[in-house]
Amino acid sequence: MGERNEAVTVVGAGLVGSLLSVFLARRGYSVEVLERRPDMRREVIDAGRSINLAISTRGLYALRQVGLEEEALKHAIPMRGRMIHPPKGALAYQPYGKDDSQHINSLARAWLNKFLMSAAEATGKVRIRFNQRVTQADLATGSLTVLDEASGQERQEAGRVLFGTDGSGSAVRQAMEQVPGFAATQEQLGHGYKELTIPAGPGGAFQMEKHALHIWPRGTYMLIGLPNEDGSFTCTLFLPWKGPVSFESLDSPAKLEAFFEEQFPDAKALIPDLTEAFFARPTGGMVTVKCAPWRVGDKALVLGDAAHAIVPFFGQGMNCGFEDCTVLDGLLEQHGTWADVFGTLERLRKTNADAIADMAVENFVEMRDSTGSPRFLLEKAVEKA
Ligand code: FAD
Repeated sequence: MGERNEAVTVVGAGLVGSLLSVFLARRGYSVEVLERRPDMRREVIDAGRSINLAISTRGLYALRQVGLEEEALKHAIPMRGRMIHPPKGALAYQPYGKDDSQHINSLARAWLNKFLMSAAEATGKVRIRFNQRVTQADLATGSLTVLDEASGQERQEAGRVLFGTDGSGSAVRQAMEQVPGFAATQEQLGHGYKELTIPAGPGGAFQMEKHALHIWPRGTYMLIGLPNEDGSFTCTLFLPWKGPVSFESLDSPAKLEAFFEEQFPDAKALIPDLTEAFFARPTGGMVTVKCAPWRVGDKALVLGDAAHAIVPFFGQGMNCGFEDCTVLDGLLEQHGTWADVFGTLERLRKTNADAIADMAVENFVEMRDSTGSPRFLLEKAVEKA
């Protein structure tokens, strides 16, 4: 195991890479983070997937370990149950537990990412370098080829212990694929997603129940809505890419509006820019990534989505990545070699991560195939959250 002042490199300052940097800094490591995007605290950029997300126990536990839970919860909106919206008729509220203490939390992704980056830098041991895209990694030495997106210049970075937290399309994982014995699978879901916004009402009022995860289950597709601090809701429409009701079939404003009028009339009434937003905003894809091993000797380790991207139907991708960090931190405390730490982390985490990935897909399939029981999905999602 390296000396406490050893310099290490983290690729990707997303949610997991930023939190991982906090953990590493607190253990005494000097951390250089290479992030391909500009600094989202200074420039308005697309923060990537999902405007808000649900943080649950395993994610909050990780934040607590580094003293960040309390501040995060100040910005979170507790969701104490699910509000089911049928196509017609009364809403059905289903509390998550016997009392309000059992809830999940809606949190803005961009806020959380910025908060974690600032917390990492505040340790004084983390330097985040933006516009730095890792294009290749030599895992025998740990050296990296890095493209400076601002200047267009490519350079080599010296080899150090490397953590790949660069998301589902991880360049570090792709470099691992060159190592004999490495195997990775990527399965795209047949559904995509589109984000739509229910704005705040007058005076910042929430136009639907604030403390609920809103769900419009419809068998082969569904809409969900999570509350934001400013009174708005971010809605996500999950729809097949192709087929009778799909992103392909909804190819005109008239079809889209008729579809929403029939299936989601209450949501339609609250989304004033439905047509404009639907056709202007990108449609996201969802992928399950599994790989083995997660590490190369004592040189490199992948964590978070880079090691185990999962589809979002349990709301557990980030939570699972945060749990990787908690477990890694516990192993660092034991002062094994890097090879020991990486090997043990993979042993402890991979089976769980793969199981969650499978359950997330199964629940989605369950919903799609049993149109009469979309609640099955919801029940399961909540149990797991
Ligand atoms: P990412 O967030 O993808 O971050 C990777 C970072 O690496 C980015 O900053 C990227 O710019 C950078 N990067 C990428 N390539 C390079 C490179 N070559 N060089 C340098 N930098 C690079 N999870 C939950 O727990 N709860 C939820 O409610 C939830 N909802 C979701 C809803 C949707 C629609 C989707 C799609 C996902 C959802 N997730 C949720 C999953 C969650 O978004 C991911 O699990 C989480 O973002 C993973 O974090 P990460 O840091 O591993 O990867």
